[in-house]
Amino acid sequence: MWIDSHAHLGDDALFSHSQEILQRAHLAQMDAIVNICTDQKTLERGIFLQKNNPQVPLVLAAATTPHDVEKEGDAFFIEVAKAAAQKQLVAIGETGLDYYYEHSPKELQKKHLIQYFHLAKKEQLPVIFHCRDAFSDLFSLADSEYQSPRAVLHCFTGTMAEAKQVLDRGWYLSLSGILTFKKSDLLREVAEYVPLDRLFVETDAPYLAPQSKRGLCNEPAFVVETAKVLAELKKVSLETVAKQTAENARSFFCF
Ligand SMILES: [Zn+2]
Repeated sequence: MWIDSHAHLGDDALFSHSQEILQRAHLAQMDAIVNICTDQKTLERGIFLQKNNPQVPLVLAAATTPHDVEKEGDAFFIEVAKAAAQKQLVAIGETGLDYYYEHSPKELQKKHLIQYFHLAKKEQLPVIFHCRDAFSDLFSLADSEYQSPRAVLHCFTGTMAEAKQVLDRGWYLSLSGILTFKKSDLLREVAEYVPLDRLFVETDAPYLAPQSKRGLCNEPAFVVETAKVLAELKKVSLETVAKQTAENARSFFCF
């Protein structure tokens, strides 16, 4: 019924008890999880979980986050390129720009994003973006180096104007537990505006647990709380949200 379009099951906070987490995801009627691998360790864990997890099918995406490109971007890029060539990935990501934290220099973030654009085009894979306080650079780099509708803004928290620019490019938006937070009125306005056939739902587990679980470690089963808020905003049933967002994710990631 559900697809969690973005979770980090290889993260230390989840991996050690991934069997229980995947069992709970199965009980919550999770049909598939897009598992995001951000370094060599989490890529290996992702491949392991994909092979050894009978409960919920996993598909994998990989890239160094914009935070870590300075530390390990070059070394991991080679591994991502290999995994993509071996058809182990359904997407390149999460890649992008984060000028809010700026853990890596801006110019280096841009350089790696461009490399990932070229890899995605070569391997005919979609791209998962992480973008914080950097939309104008993201849009202009994508317009010159990518020029494809195959992209999603994961954990979208931008403005209405930024959401419109995302839609204009044919891209998707993925909504996380932030949609359920009390202070997220502007994001709820965006979610109300964006057509349901351009939305995914995600947890970004282990981060960003929804309102009723704040402070806890997030996990894929909790995606339902975000979807409930979306169903209210759209004035449709929870089943409709599940069916449409799952269909969107399947056609986007091609699985
Ligand atoms: Zn993430």
